Amino acid sequence: MIFDSHCHLNLAAFDKDREDLIKQLEKVDVFVINVGTCYATSLKAIEIAQNCSHCWASVGIHPSHTFSAFNPDKKEIPGDKIEAEQWGEQWEQLVQYPKVVAIGECGLDYSYLKNFSSAEQDFYKQQQEKVFRQQIKAAQQFHLPLILHIRGLYQKALDILREEHYKGTGVFHFFTGTPEEAKQVIQTGFYIGFSGVITYSSQLDKTIQEVPLNRILIETDAPYVVPVPYRGQRNNPFYVTEIAAKIAQVRNKTTEDILELTARNTRQLFSLDYP
Ligand SMILES: [Zn+2]
Repeated sequence: MIFDSHCHLNLAAFDKDREDLIKQLEKVDVFVINVGTCYATSLKAIEIAQNCSHCWASVGIHPSHTFSAFNPDKKEIPGDKIEAEQWGEQWEQLVQYPKVVAIGECGLDYSYLKNFSSAEQDFYKQQQEKVFRQQIKAAQQFHLPLILHIRGLYQKALDILREEHYKGTGVFHFFTGTPEEAKQVIQTGFYIGFSGVITYSSQLDKTIQEVPLNRILIETDAPYVVPVPYRGQRNNPFYVTEIAAKIAQVRNKTTEDILELTARNTRQLFSLDYP
């Protein structure tokens, strides 16, 4: 079985051929979780899940949507302006939809703040942390796993989870940390999501080597970060096999082994009884 544990068919980059891609998923038996980044894309992920047997949804506020700014990435959202969002009542309704299997992606990413003054940066960092904590609480409340977007700030994220007495589980998506950081993530009860970056650099080989096989997920993060050998194209969930192939090579397994065990891990983390 092939399972892309983190992609974004809900984003505008797929507006033109979304229907075809979804049909294709069912045809070739590739399963995906479409991850929300703001209210609109969370709603879209739910809508896709309702129309596709091979899709599930996650709802959440990406750190780049916790402050109001000009859109740093026009591929993601049409228009120029991102509105600041916070978790609240309207989100609690989204969580109740069938096939919503996680809260996120949420977390910390200061790379979006580069162009702000230092006073603004301080304020927006606090804002990110606040909205992150809101979503940790929601995950506890609704007994859903977290999909975390943490750029570099692994220790800080783990500290916040501890301060919130988070008892649940989740995944550190797009993991690029050291073996030591991976170990702490595992000890906290979380999974590690590997993306296309592992296919064009050997920097993460050591980390891949050390993560227990029952804690690894694979993901494309499509439309972003296309794996080798497809660099330059728009990413899509079918390319997740390239990420499996790279892990297989580092761990001395077959690609099929890795596809099978990561699909099993994904179903376990998100409590999926189908397929
Ligand atoms: Zn993502």
